[in-house]
Amino acid sequence: MKTKINRYDIALIAAIVLINVVILFSGGRKAVHADEKIAYVYSHEELVGEYVMSDDYETEFTVGDEKSGYNTVHIENGEVWIHDASCPDKICLSQGKISRDGEIIVCLPNQFMIQIEDKSEEENDVDFMAQ
Ligand SMILES: [Zn+2]
Repeated sequence: MKTKINRYDIALIAAIVLINVVILFSGGRKAVHADEKIAYVYSHEELVGEYVMSDDYETEFTVGDEKSGYNTVHIENGEVWIHDASCPDKICLSQGKISRDGEIIVCLPNQFMIQIEDKSEEENDVDFMAQ
């Protein structure tokens, strides 16, 4: 037995479709903004590298050398951590993984620092203030 679709059903279907579109739209925005998370790498108070931390990006690099001190940095799945370091205290190694806006890893002996800046969170702040 088949019931006829009435006006009420159509309104309900339209509402469900609209909700799905809104979810898709906001999901898409998130994906775009996730690509705008950047790890800034500083050595001796100078910016030596900028890495866009997209979900599928993976890299490992070393800043400095054996003589003056070095930090090996690993970036994977939107997270950054120190993989190896020459410093005696290894505090930078114990700071673990960072992934959020404003988080930092510091290595004082090597005057080395990584800071994450999430552009999407910044943008949201601006939108919020403008309202
Ligand atoms: Zn260190």
